[in-house]
Amino acid sequence: MSSEDPILYTILDECIAIIQLNRPDARNAQNTALLYALNDAFDRAAQDEKVKVIILAANGPHFSAGHDLREAPSMDVLFEGMSRFKTVGTWDGYSEGGASPLFTREREIFVDFCERWRNLPKPTIAAVQGKCIAGGLMLAWPCDIILAAEDAEFQDNTVSMGIGGVEYFVHPWEVGTRKAKELLFTSDWLSATDAQKLGMVNHVVPTESLLDEATAMARKIAQKPMFALRLAKEAVNAAEDAQGRPTAIKVAFGLHHVAHTHNQLKFGQVIDPTIFSLPTSEKK
Ligand code: ZN
Repeated sequence: MSSEDPILYTILDECIAIIQLNRPDARNAQNTALLYALNDAFDRAAQDEKVKVIILAANGPHFSAGHDLREAPSMDVLFEGMSRFKTVGTWDGYSEGGASPLFTREREIFVDFCERWRNLPKPTIAAVQGKCIAGGLMLAWPCDIILAAEDAEFQDNTVSMGIGGVEYFVHPWEVGTRKAKELLFTSDWLSATDAQKLGMVNHVVPTESLLDEATAMARKIAQKPMFALRLAKEAVNAAEDAQGRPTAIKVAFGLHHVAHTHNQLKFGQVIDPTIFSLPTSEKK
């Protein structure tokens, strides 16, 4: 492990795994390597029988600026050597082209990864500071508990990019339907305190003590019986899913790809480029 690693992994008290996003210079923008490393880290924590609670934190002033757009310029984006299903890329027989590579890529590393992390059989706590934009939401939302620093701000600005929402579309469950529409329609920022009022955030804490607060909560949770924690999580998740959440995610993901295809046909790239001429406050 080095400072170059996109993900840092440490164990605290033998039973708390702290996973840190580690691309601070890029505001922890998610490139493909980071997402696979993050998935590996979640697997490692899930498979370590000593680990009872997992904290997802971020190195630097910002939690995550979302997808690294430098990596996704067109429908031709590849993730050769990365896709666990090997359904896209340059392997013999897998160069289908068309909408297939982007659909497959986003399905695997955005929707399927997020849902997998959300269903990990151990409690997870996200510690969010600074900006948490679009794809950044898809890292915080899968966690069971979200602690936000006072300076945390949340935004899904994908409508400004000609898309109806990020790939992991759980906005109605996170903030309620009306607020979900408002935030999507306007690309407005959601403050930590407003996110708490909406139930998206559990607690707002001083920025300098964010990790300490997450650790304190992790220590409290780690004292409980492991299987009971898992059952409690399963029960709450089942209640959400009983409202049609998994089906809604699939429908929204299909619409997301209608948007990518629309933008590709209209502008020659998968997002509407007018985002780049908007005021800075709306940009990534
Ligand atoms: Zn997308």
